[in-house]
Amino acid sequence: MSEKTGTNITKAANGSPKPSSPNSDLKNEFAAFLNYAPAPESSEHIEIKDRYQHFIDGDFTEPVKNRYFKSINPATEAVLSEFAEGTSEDVDAAVKAARKAYDKQWSVLSGKERGKYIFRIARMIQERSRELAITETMDGGKPIRESRDVDVPLAAAYFFYYAGWADKLKYAFPGKTPVPVGVCGQIIPWNFPLLMLSWKIAPALAAGNTVVLKPAETTPLTALKFAEICRDAGLPKGVVNIVTGAGQTGAALVDHPDVDKIAFTGSTEVGKIIQKSLAGTSKKYSLELGGKGPNIVYDDAPVDQAVEGVINAIFFNQGHVCCAGSRLLVQEGIAEKLIEKLKARMDSLIVGDPLDKNTDIGAINSKMQFEKIEKYIEIGKNEGAEFYQSSSELPSNGFFCKPTIFTGVSQSNRIVQEEIFGPVLTIQTFRTPQEAIEKANNTPYGLASGVWTDKGSKIFETGKSVRSGVMWSNTYNKFDPTSPFGGYKESGIGREGGLHGLYPYVNLGH
Ligand code: NDP
Repeated sequence: MSEKTGTNITKAANGSPKPSSPNSDLKNEFAAFLNYAPAPESSEHIEIKDRYQHFIDGDFTEPVKNRYFKSINPATEAVLSEFAEGTSEDVDAAVKAARKAYDKQWSVLSGKERGKYIFRIARMIQERSRELAITETMDGGKPIRESRDVDVPLAAAYFFYYAGWADKLKYAFPGKTPVPVGVCGQIIPWNFPLLMLSWKIAPALAAGNTVVLKPAETTPLTALKFAEICRDAGLPKGVVNIVTGAGQTGAALVDHPDVDKIAFTGSTEVGKIIQKSLAGTSKKYSLELGGKGPNIVYDDAPVDQAVEGVINAIFFNQGHVCCAGSRLLVQEGIAEKLIEKLKARMDSLIVGDPLDKNTDIGAINSKMQFEKIEKYIEIGKNEGAEFYQSSSELPSNGFFCKPTIFTGVSQSNRIVQEEIFGPVLTIQTFRTPQEAIEKANNTPYGLASGVWTDKGSKIFETGKSVRSGVMWSNTYNKFDPTSPFGGYKESGIGREGGLHGLYPYVNLGH
């Protein structure tokens, strides 16, 4: 299936001229400095079938009730394909296949042999990287630059990394004997579909488990392309099973009595529902939930670099990022200057066709999410905050939102406390490090944060005092398979990535 691309938005280039104010002359200055011609990535060679079945026991299988749902391209609203709607019967078939594969094949295979399969999968992701990046962009709306340079290479890197652990587990847990947990149910969201799949499937397989994975309803496509990779890699049947569907399909997986472990990434709201369902069972679980990341800029920070960092922290992937730096805390002395530069930089961002290689901000993932963001923008206005949106032009079709900031907010405002999951930044000021830390910690979340300063001592003190699973200093949104990631408070339980990411997938005997 091919897609029409190109929204013909020609906009000003990034950064080079140093603006003094975000007025219209300045925008013209940017535009005059350098214009980008459209540079759409071709999707003509991408094969998207009209219909996708579940992937169970090594084969693509019809759903028991023969019901399908559609997934659209959020940038064009065109239907991409149809996907099987998973029922509890489908989930049961997948769990049975995973159990059989676990008992008869995967758990008894040596770590060295498991590692070979996982390496092969990693290499095949690299081989199909262009196709996977384009597919991810069409299905989810994220800019091709991000899916090409971040999502897909990182997904391969997680498989490479955990392939390396498969035959070294006894060194990972000195003095203990790690044994696999069994059949793992894995539920992932729509913001990083292939990458979240890799965070979950790679450590599970390395540790000797088999999996049933449910991708998000709006972005199941790369998971099914991944199923093709598993099949083509010769992975034993039933080791990886993919069941598509909506929330009920996920709930059926959580409730299945023969699942030993649940790994979930998504909203705090659904995370709490899952935690309640699992209470009183012997199932292990790890939850990676929402966030409201504080990004703290001290007055000794290099302002231009901090502005780039703030932009990346909130506008990367349209702000659909659980660890997004969605709350900027800036020290009073530099607030005015920083906000002025930030507005000018926002005006240079290109919002539009996600398949265009010049696009900075792509489409909002779904109509539902678009409406949620719009609702929060209204809430912010009604809460009395000052509102600024970039002057970016938007395509006429699809779901697009301009980069947005709110100043003059207070700590108790809903837009400061609640996860918006869109390109919306709140800005607060502070006078002392103590005040910054108190404000940073004053939400129910504790997933990620950032600090910008010239002083190492401030980095350490702030890092020690802000309760978040990750703190980036003088950078933001940097990921590496060797680093653990996860939250405190309502941001979740357990860690993914690195050695820590193996813990949820093993039981440790003596
Ligand atoms: P959800 O938490 O609902 O979805 C995450 C995954 O869980 C999806 O695969 C979803 O299926 C599935 N799911 C939904 N309900 C259940 C259930 N009862 N039992 C088991 N699995 C379930 O996120 P949404 O996609 O609905 O987004 C809602 C909000 O959550 C967003 O606006 C955003 O604020 C936040 N969010 C946060 C994420 C994060 O990483 N912090 C990621 C995604 C969303 P399905 O896709 O079919 O609904």
